[in-house]
Order: sequence, then structure tokens, then C-alpha cells
Amino acid sequence: MSSWIEVADGVHARRYAELDQTLGLVVGERRCLVVDTGLDEAHGAEFAAAIRELTDLPWTVVITHAHFDHYLGTAAFGDVPVYAHPGCAVAMREDVRPEWARRYREQGKPEIADRIAVARVVPPTHEVPDRVELDLGGRRVTLLHPGPAHTDHDVAVHVPDAGVVFAGDLVEQGAPPSVGPDAHPARWPGALDVLLALRPTTVVPGHGEPVDPRFVAAQRDELSAGST
Ligand SMILES: [Zn+2]
Repeated sequence: MSSWIEVADGVHARRYAELDQTLGLVVGERRCLVVDTGLDEAHGAEFAAAIRELTDLPWTVVITHAHFDHYLGTAAFGDVPVYAHPGCAVAMREDVRPEWARRYREQGKPEIADRIAVARVVPPTHEVPDRVELDLGGRRVTLLHPGPAHTDHDVAVHVPDAGVVFAGDLVEQGAPPSVGPDAHPARWPGALDVLLALRPTTVVPGHGEPVDPRFVAAQRDELSAGST
């Protein structure tokens, strides 16, 4: 189950029932930017085909962080530029496929488990250590690392002309933010302040529906309360 949401002109979020996940697309005049690629290659292929119904422009990929559901679909996009924080490439060297395949098998989802087990890991080709501006043709976007938060290598995507920020898992709608062992909860609120300072009208989370900045500020306050 999946569907598109047009967040702004040429800015799209694709929603999935599995993990309540949200993947992104920004369309320029000369190329498009794909924000995360899904949890296995079949998922990535479905996303790629859905993008091809909207645009046939060449694509560039950005990976928001190295959690399996955000990057194991990349191989479906072929030989493309893949942007990520340098720490993302480091984290991707740990092979998490067997562990996630085991968990999916335990959940009674053997098809997904099998697909995760064989998904190829595509390392990033371009680094986003701090900020990188990409010209998509008639539209500039900024890839930025707002500081350690959900991981030590999160990357967000700012589309200034549309007032949209893709926040990766720094923001979750429908569930509290996922604070795993690789998270930096004390620094997380500061990273959200970096995103809010971009003055977005819409923030697209890694899981759940697009939200407004007030929602992000409330999530920041909850994280602040939890980290003191
Ligand atoms: Zn994550």
C-alpha cells in the first residue's frame, strides 16, 4: 500500500503502510532528487517506478541516515550519485541485513525478510559533511547536517522556494521519535532548532504524515524534557 502526497509544487512525499514510512521527491527542471530509497530493492523499485510516473528526469539520491529502511532500496535506482553524511558511509559498513531479516521473520513477514537479506548495499558517492547546495534546474535545494540527533550523521533536505524541509527521522508523526542506541538525545533539540530556523511551512518526517513547524517545536520540547 502506497500513495503520493504533493507537499508543494514539484515536492512530493510517498507514504507506505510498512513502518508508516515516508520517502521524498523534489523535481527540478533538469533533474530530480530522491530522498531515501526504502527498506529493500523491491521497495526501491516500486518507488522508482512511481517516480517515473511523475517525471523522467535523471535522478540523484540523498540518504538521510544509515538505518536499513532508508537505504536498502538504493540499488533499484541504478548507477546514480548518492549523497550522505560521511558518518553514514561508516555506519553502512555494519551489515544489519541478517538482524533485520531475522526480526521480520519473527514478525511473520518472511517475504520482506527474504528481500532484506539479499538487498545490495550501495555506498554513498558524495559527502555532505555540513551543507551542500544542489541545482536541480530552476530550483536549488540544500542538503544539511543539523548536528547529531537521531544518529550522528543525519542529513535533512531544505527546499527553500517551497518552504519544505525533509527531516529524515529527526521528526516522526504518528509515533514518538525513535531514540535508539545510536541517537544523541541531548543534542537532538538543538538539531531541530537548526531545521526550524530555516522557517519551513511544511516538514516531511521519515515516518508519518507531513507536519507544520509547531508540531516540530512540540516534539523538540518533548525531547528536551526527556533529556534533562
Ligand atoms: Zn532511523
